[in-house]
Amino acid sequence: MEVPILCPPFNYHSLERVRIILKSGKEQSVHRYHPWIFSGAIKKIYGSPAEGDLVDVFDSKEEFLATGHYQPGSISVRILSFEQTEAGIDFLRNRIRDALDFRKLLGLVGNPSTNVFRLVHAEGDNLPGLIADYYNGVIVLQMHSVGMYRIRNDLAEIFTDLPGLTITAVYDKSESTIPYMSGVAGANGFLFGSADPAVVTENGFKFMVDWKTGQKTGFFIDQRENRKLLNLFTSGKRVLNLFGYTGGFSVYAMKDASLVHTVDSSGPAIELADENIRLNYGDNRRHESFTTNAFEFMNDIGGKYDLIILDPPAFAKHNNVLGNALQGYKRLNMKAIEMIRPGGIIFTFSCSQVVTKENFRKSVFAAAANTSRKVRILHQLSQPPDHPVNIYHPESEYLKGLVLYVE
Ligand code: SAH
Repeated sequence: MEVPILCPPFNYHSLERVRIILKSGKEQSVHRYHPWIFSGAIKKIYGSPAEGDLVDVFDSKEEFLATGHYQPGSISVRILSFEQTEAGIDFLRNRIRDALDFRKLLGLVGNPSTNVFRLVHAEGDNLPGLIADYYNGVIVLQMHSVGMYRIRNDLAEIFTDLPGLTITAVYDKSESTIPYMSGVAGANGFLFGSADPAVVTENGFKFMVDWKTGQKTGFFIDQRENRKLLNLFTSGKRVLNLFGYTGGFSVYAMKDASLVHTVDSSGPAIELADENIRLNYGDNRRHESFTTNAFEFMNDIGGKYDLIILDPPAFAKHNNVLGNALQGYKRLNMKAIEMIRPGGIIFTFSCSQVVTKENFRKSVFAAAANTSRKVRILHQLSQPPDHPVNIYHPESEYLKGLVLYVE
């Protein structure tokens, strides 16, 4: 049996950094600020780095290129800086403060109607491997690299001392996100303070968030702008929210829809969806929820709904199942297009990183073409600006959606 290794905290000062030399020509993507070094690009490693160590990367002429966290596997280095740096606590603090300043610019900090947002979006904020979500004073961290995981206590200290944000707790929820090959054992837990599940506010709507048991960090923060857009279309409508999770879209739709049905296969998610409807509207007969398989539910919805939301989980996590995923999107969208009432609206999404905007649109096109309905695209949707896309790292763009008008 493999014994999990509990990594010691990181000592920034005690190291002679390992040097990684790239093959000739392989420095080009680094010059274009792509933040990953793939194993196939490496010519030589001077030293034997442990997973998560800071390493320096050089071109084939041994000119300095970048500093980052080492990990064995296909992505060998996640780059933190393209300039020479110790990459210690001050460096991290500056990066995190930059991320916060950017959220201030977006009007998300100290905003009375929205107190939940993504504070750090990994590569999108030049901090590969680190996700930090803010829930009204509680920070939930998800580390995707051992390099970030090893410095979690330093990170917690930085997050509790940010100008303009009062932090009551920092929760580490990395157990399921640390690379499983690493052998590093991580148990979720508070790094600072503690907090029970709590109500947060998004665009004035209330949501109960349980970061310990919920999916991702507890809430799908990335749909904030798209939920807001939904309200342009909900007045007096019969709305079906498929893959509804804790009722994000349903709570918005309930503002003025004539009825809202929420479907999810997860019982706990549906319980929380019901609670979220109560929080905002009391016991309200306009809402009904169904704990069941969305695909089966769709067999019997012909002509019943004016607006359908399709926000399924990622159908493809890897390129090798891309074909199946695209078929899945086609099947789902075809059913919705067939079944919706004339003049209906469909909000359809894909959050699979490996499915490009173009591929998703092609799947929806193929779906529409297989029905006898006429379909127009009204909006092309994406992730909100607190999930920024690093232009040199197109992989950080993952959420895409379309608003369809079906004649
Ligand atoms: N729209 C939601 C997020 C959806 S996440 C929001 O704004 O918060 C995807 C959801 O799909 C998860 O809650 C998961 O439980 C659910 N799910 C996965 N497979 C399903 C299936 N076959 N039928 C119904 N729900 C499913």
